[in-house]
Amino acid sequence: MHLHIGLDDTDSTHGGCTTYIAARLVEQLLDVDAHFIDYPNIIRLNPNIPYKTRGNAAVALRLEIPSAMYDSVMHIVLSEIEKEGRIGDENADPAAVFLKGDPTRSVRELARRALCELVPLTDAIGIIMESHAESASYGTSIGLVGALAAIGHTLDEDHTFELVAYRRRENCGSRRVVEEQSVKRMNNLTQPFTFNNYDEKNRRVLITPHGPDPVLLGIRGETAEVVREAFDMLKIHEPVERWVVFRTNHATDAHLEAAKGKGVKANAPVVVDGLVDGRPERTIGGHVFFPIHTGQGRFTCAAYEPTGRLRDIIMQLVPGDQVAVYGGTPGRYGLTVNLEKLEILNLTSCVTNQNPPCPRCGKRLKSAGRGKGFKCSRCSLVARDQKRTHILEPRKLTPGVYLPELKAYRHLTKPLSRHNLERKWDGKPPLEKWHSP
Ligand SMILES: [Zn+2]
Repeated sequence: MHLHIGLDDTDSTHGGCTTYIAARLVEQLLDVDAHFIDYPNIIRLNPNIPYKTRGNAAVALRLEIPSAMYDSVMHIVLSEIEKEGRIGDENADPAAVFLKGDPTRSVRELARRALCELVPLTDAIGIIMESHAESASYGTSIGLVGALAAIGHTLDEDHTFELVAYRRRENCGSRRVVEEQSVKRMNNLTQPFTFNNYDEKNRRVLITPHGPDPVLLGIRGETAEVVREAFDMLKIHEPVERWVVFRTNHATDAHLEAAKGKGVKANAPVVVDGLVDGRPERTIGGHVFFPIHTGQGRFTCAAYEPTGRLRDIIMQLVPGDQVAVYGGTPGRYGLTVNLEKLEILNLTSCVTNQNPPCPRCGKRLKSAGRGKGFKCSRCSLVARDQKRTHILEPRKLTPGVYLPELKAYRHLTKPLSRHNLERKWDGKPPLEKWHSP
């Protein structure tokens, strides 16, 4: 039978990582001859939920097992959560859901909602009961939403792969030592089929995180093969405890796709178009704000300092420019849209009006009052027949899609390099090497 296992919320601020538990489970489940019908999935859900870590990641393991093996698989998973799941840590509410058979329409629907809404726990519990799934949860049980959503998000459409390598426990908390030159070389040899490896502008390695968690590095790419080849190109100066290739919705804009047509709501991703409704302003901290007028009303859009050059693009917008904004409303500051992507649809013509020069001395004329023409402040000439001139200012911007700098990307942000590389899933089980021996 098919068995789908969803895991969520085993992370906390003290380290720990849902994908690490998944990686350990892969080995234990293969040991008892469970057959994986898909790579383990990392599913990123609505990134605008206040009580979640920034990543909001859940994991799904999809197995084919003899029915008689169900109890032992469940036992393996629950023992692992109890061992590694940070039970009792603040903000860690680990949960697991076990669904026999393939996800039903209501499970898939909940998964779609969890990308762009704050789904109530009671909705998840209702669907778990209706689907005859089994579950285990700790703390507030809110992890059940993500665990069930991971099962329902089967990544049939666009998806990417991530090879995640883990560190030994004794090294957690120390600096990750991966040779920068080897990352640059790997990046040059494998892009655009891998992405977000290295930030050339800021000379920053992006594959290594910085927290106390057990993740050593993650390489993102279009296929399982390319991320594995890229991994082999790295020079790593600490032992790799284990590695697994995950299939994910990273870098697919899945949250924005799900938000299309839903307008601006609190704690949700946002895709909305409108007209720039005032001059953009830059604050002392370097953040840039501008208002847009949409069919739903007027909203403030924010591009914070880490978005880098995106702010310079925004500063050139003028009232009347037509834009689509993509982002999210974390909810702390009302319905401010934090920008993740800007699309310039149409630039308005920017006209400035100028008084004519004095025909006698050349100085720019002043208005003599409404309907009274102009007068010269230098030679006192009064000129009634002169006309103001309209100057069409050239726009330096061009319509198109603009993204923040790499360091400001969310896990779900689709980089420009992925446009036109989107692919559907062929549904085949993983055959090649996709985990450490
Ligand atoms: Zn004059």
